[in-house]
Amino acid sequence: MHLAGRHAERLALGEERSQAREQLALYAGALKTLIDRYGALPAVLALDPELRQALARGEEPDAAARQRLNLKLERINGAARSSTLELLDRDGLAIAASNWRLPTSYVGHNYAFRPYFQQTRQQGTGRFYAVGVTSGIPGYFLSNAIHDEAGAFLGAIVVKLEFPELEREWSRSPDLLLVSDARGIVFIANRPGWRYRELEPLDAEDRAELAATRQYDRQPLAPLRQRTLDRFDDGDRLARVDGPEGQADYLWQRLALPGDGWTLHLLRQPATANGARIASLAAGGAWLALAFLGLLLHQRWRLARLRRRSREELERLVEQRTEALRTAQEGLIQAAKLAALGQMSAALAHEINQPLTALQMHLGSLRLLLEAGQTEQARQALPRLDGLLHRMSALTGHLKTYARKSPGGLRERLDLERVVEQALQLLAPRLRGGQVEIVREPPRATPAWVAGDAIRLEQVLVNLLRNALDACAGHPAPRIQLALVRDGGDWLLTVADNGGGIAEADLPHVFDPFFTTKPVGDGLGLGLAVSYAIVHELGGRLSAANRDDGALFTLRLPASEDPR
Ligand code: ADP
Repeated sequence: MHLAGRHAERLALGEERSQAREQLALYAGALKTLIDRYGALPAVLALDPELRQALARGEEPDAAARQRLNLKLERINGAARSSTLELLDRDGLAIAASNWRLPTSYVGHNYAFRPYFQQTRQQGTGRFYAVGVTSGIPGYFLSNAIHDEAGAFLGAIVVKLEFPELEREWSRSPDLLLVSDARGIVFIANRPGWRYRELEPLDAEDRAELAATRQYDRQPLAPLRQRTLDRFDDGDRLARVDGPEGQADYLWQRLALPGDGWTLHLLRQPATANGARIASLAAGGAWLALAFLGLLLHQRWRLARLRRRSREELERLVEQRTEALRTAQEGLIQAAKLAALGQMSAALAHEINQPLTALQMHLGSLRLLLEAGQTEQARQALPRLDGLLHRMSALTGHLKTYARKSPGGLRERLDLERVVEQALQLLAPRLRGGQVEIVREPPRATPAWVAGDAIRLEQVLVNLLRNALDACAGHPAPRIQLALVRDGGDWLLTVADNGGGIAEADLPHVFDPFFTTKPVGDGLGLGLAVSYAIVHELGGRLSAANRDDGALFTLRLPASEDPR
């Protein structure tokens, strides 16, 4: 703020300074013109024979001659518009003056002590600014020596110029204008109270001289207290001044006037304070904004870091838990697998052992029959062996269906309707033999697309249909109902029969491996278990329920989009 204020101040001051300098030159010019105008007057008057004569006479002029002189000087003074004209004799005594009528008349007074008189006596001309000892009015005294034909000094003619008019004219200026003499004493000022101020301290010698010449006579001289705040390279300065109007800051410029060692001063109150304040405020605002922005960004950064950290922490936790769960799950799966393997092995061993033992027995008796040459009986025993082998191959057939697993899972797009067709064809001989009525809906206009493996899905349907056939085998009018409907994103295929249904207690177990209610040799209890597993793998579900006079199996498979 400070720097911005200063910078703005400097910029504005720079402009003011150049303006003020121009003004200063104008004022100096006016002062010079005024003095120059009267500069020649004493020289011309010094040649006046009447004045010369009056001084040359050697003795006191008579009253009439004095009066004539007074009148003459009065006339000339009026015409020249100078302040006063006076004629001094060789001793400095005023023998005639233009102000002879006034009580402050110079006539009869001796001015030998005035420096301008001494200068005139010595050099022929004199100049001096002083407060009139008689009139008390300050003025500029210009004097010229009057010589006789032989060149001897007879006296001096003195013009006094006063500056009230100049001061009045200058007082219209908004600036403070001062003229100081060589000692730094202000003798012209355009504001009251500024005259007779010492700009620089006077020493004892100066004071003694002032007293001798009575330059400022009885005027009290007071020092002007001031302090330089800032100094510019061309001598201008910014000063705090204790003036008669109180303390104020001024841009202070000075211009030396040629001749008498006078200096013209121009003091201007810079109008920059406001601009500078605005600039500092703006700079302050900008800094504050920057600071807040910084804070905001810092805060956001910290918040983001905190969020990132807690997110990372959370992610780590989730990962840990997931890992733990996965381990637990894998353990469970492994245990379940082992349990299933054990169960399966036991059941399989039991299921296969039975026909194997029977086969062994039958083969033994077959050998005996053949050894005994009873070929006919031996032939009769063969179908039993066939039956046992058939049973064993059926067992492995089921397992093979389930084990049929294309790597990555074969997933072709199938029309479920076509799968049903295929299964019915496979079972055609049994259906015909059992006189079973197959109830189907009219063929669908659009295919019921599902994704899966045709052979395995056919196997599922064959299992369901075979069970239904088994169930309604004893019914006088066996009937199997097939329906295919769309349910949201799934296809539902239902297989219902009128075979009396499943016992309530068995319902939860029908999908268990080796669960069967059929007599030994007929059921393996694997059909539904394998079907369940196949459907499950395809992302579908197989469920069993009782309806009316029979069982209802529902196969649910997710629909696949129309390939078109
Ligand atoms: P299996 O046919 O070799 O017995 P499944 O797994 O196919 O083996 O069937 C298991 C059991 O479920 C059957 O023994 C039977 O008790 C019951 N079951 C299956 N389908 C039907 C059905 N449509 N009606 C009545 N019971 C059924």
